[in-house]
Amino acid sequence: VPGGWGVYDQAADAERRERRETLEGLRVVLAGAPGAGELEVHYQPQVAASGVVVGAEALVRWRHPDRGLLAPAAFLDLAEERGLMGALTARVLRRAAADAAGWARRGHRLRVSVNVSTSVLVDPGLMPLVEEVLARTPLAASDLVLEITETMLMKDPERALPTARRLAERGVGLSIDDYGTGYASMGYLDDLPATELKLDRAFTARLGRRERTAAIVRTTVDLADRLGLRLVAEGVEDDATLRALHGLGVDETQGYLHSRPLDAAAFGCWLDERAAR
Ligand code: C2E
Ligand code: CA
Ligand code: CA
Ligand code: CA
Repeated sequence: VPGGWGVYDQAADAERRERRETLEGLRVVLAGAPGAGELEVHYQPQVAASGVVVGAEALVRWRHPDRGLLAPAAFLDLAEERGLMGALTARVLRRAAADAAGWARRGHRLRVSVNVSTSVLVDPGLMPLVEEVLARTPLAASDLVLEITETMLMKDPERALPTARRLAERGVGLSIDDYGTGYASMGYLDDLPATELKLDRAFTARLGRRERTAAIVRTTVDLADRLGLRLVAEGVEDDATLRALHGLGVDETQGYLHSRPLDAAAFGCWLDERAAR
């Protein structure tokens, strides 16, 4: 139907235009030029069973002048596709380290975790960037964690290995994000000097609904324990799930229950308030 094709063309056109505008905007933002808004780093706490806040995950946002606060899903794929991920990650890493140094000055020493894609993990520029960040901020190497998703890791485990080893030598943490969503996960675990497993929120969400899930979580606790890895469960939204996780031996948790991701200022206040109570 000609009319049908017309509608399709219009939709495709609109999508192409939006992608082009998003890409141009991203370039402007990353160049630090005005007019396209700002990249912000928001933080979500990681809380031990004792109640102590032990870490924060840095999550990028784009405060867009017309479109409001954009989540990573709105621009990360495009950034990756167009080779902008290195610049974006450098931005996030520098900001996160500076913010973490700020919290430490206010008496809140915690780890900060930054997400990296495979392209960034294998980029020769990554280690110099990490060195620069560690030299410029009083952040301890072990208080910096890079998160890489299991799926990305599985695509090319060999290529990730050299950087993983360098990070380990330097004492920087490496977390396997969305753990349990890849397949044949045991092979790479044997080689990779990771420091943390981040249990995917699919397991957390199913914990109250499926009995088998508890067995999987318990096995993961045991595995992490035996490999000397920290385990963090993500996506904890309610008290019952938190108690179930603690009951299964998961110490550290992250999710809306503790807090939604907050901008740096709000997160600083959140830390202060929590310490005061
Ligand atoms: P992720 O690394 O798995 O991050 C967790 C995501 O789950 C975040 O979404 C967070 O806001 C959301 N979340 C946290 N707690 C809960 C909860 O209790 N329930 C539910 N349903 N969701 C929760 P966000 O911020 O939209 O980030 C999406 C993804 O974008 C991240 O998934 C990560 O893969 C990627 N990402 C974010 N920032 C960066 C970055 O700076 N660099 C790179 N390479 N990737 C990033
Ligand atoms: Ca993550
Ligand atoms: Ca995750
Ligand atoms: Ca995820």
